[in-house]
Amino acid sequence: MLRTHKIALCPNKSQEQLLRQHVGYARFAYNWALARHIEQRQQGVWENGYVLRPAFNAVKPEIAPWSASLSQYAAKNAILDLHKALQRWGAYRRAVKANNKPRRVGHPKFRAKHGRCQSYQADNGPGTVTVDRKLVVLPKIGAVKMREVLRFDGTIRKVVVKFDGRRWFACVVVESEPAPHIEPEVEACGIDVGITTLASVAYSNGERETIANPKPLAGALSDLRRIDKAIARSKNVHGINKTSNRRLRLYAKRRRLHARIRDIRADHRHKTTTAITKRCGQLSVETLNVAGMMRNKRVARSLADASMSGWLTTLEHKADFHGRRFNKADRWLPSSKTCSECGEVKAALSMSERQYRCDECGHTDDRDFNAAQNLLAEVQPKRGGNISPDSNSSPAVPTKRKLQTA
Ligand SMILES: [Zn+2]
Repeated sequence: MLRTHKIALCPNKSQEQLLRQHVGYARFAYNWALARHIEQRQQGVWENGYVLRPAFNAVKPEIAPWSASLSQYAAKNAILDLHKALQRWGAYRRAVKANNKPRRVGHPKFRAKHGRCQSYQADNGPGTVTVDRKLVVLPKIGAVKMREVLRFDGTIRKVVVKFDGRRWFACVVVESEPAPHIEPEVEACGIDVGITTLASVAYSNGERETIANPKPLAGALSDLRRIDKAIARSKNVHGINKTSNRRLRLYAKRRRLHARIRDIRADHRHKTTTAITKRCGQLSVETLNVAGMMRNKRVARSLADASMSGWLTTLEHKADFHGRRFNKADRWLPSSKTCSECGEVKAALSMSERQYRCDECGHTDDRDFNAAQNLLAEVQPKRGGNISPDSNSSPAVPTKRKLQTA
């Protein structure tokens, strides 16, 4: 089983400069190879990574003499990344031509110098990067201090070094044994996700838990707006095409802020999903239609801030890791509209109705927990309350229904 441990690095000044140079070198090689591939394709030749790499090595001393002191793995891995991206795009184009209606794959893009995430792959296969306690030994850079020790045992398969705008990280991919079995405390749970409360969990032993939404973006909006305004002013003063050091500093500031927002979200996501998967033997969740929900402009931002699907994806990974059963309910299951007591399905339920009230049996419950209870019943059916996908809700209105669960 492959697991990735992302560990923050504490490079010193000269190491940091070297890291930047390696990221730059990877970008340079990637962009050169992509430009060459496009040029050759226009003449009817498809050059893959195994052609592009020797071609790059041949001209390297001429076009990038500065790269001689850097690790060549950075360039090699970058061109191999491009190779894979071109392969995927080529397969997509063939599928389109064969009318297979494939999932869209974009053409590889040139890497930007000031992009969101700057990275390079440092290894040259297993064993070429070693980790010793809180040190990672990177080719041509040496031992760089890490903030914590590598938590997973096993062979190191890959090491990617990245800068997220705020800090440097080593993402260490380890081939490790499956996790030791932890006896679950509770048999099963149903989980309803939403925006106001990120998750409402109904356990099979009757316990209930709400997981709050940290909403890190909402808290940083005023700071972001201030920076964006300053950037806009700078563009007015200097012109868009003229670089200004002040504007570059502002971009860096904005990247740092976004990195912090992502960190808060990731920290919360990892802590909460680990707690649930360790505690519970079976997890039942709904299937979200986030793309459909994002079309609603009024909720798009808070929806993205909640990152519900990211939370569910992590939950699924962790459930798999701990050997838990993970049930994704049918996409059309009316988990919010169904009474968790008698199974009656409401024709309509508006978003503002926070309390579920059944017209049939008079059962009342918090709407999120009512939905969670229905999801729990998917894996642990209880007397009579068997629900089935709603035949009334046609595939044309999923957006509406999912918004109501929010
Ligand atoms: Zn009822």
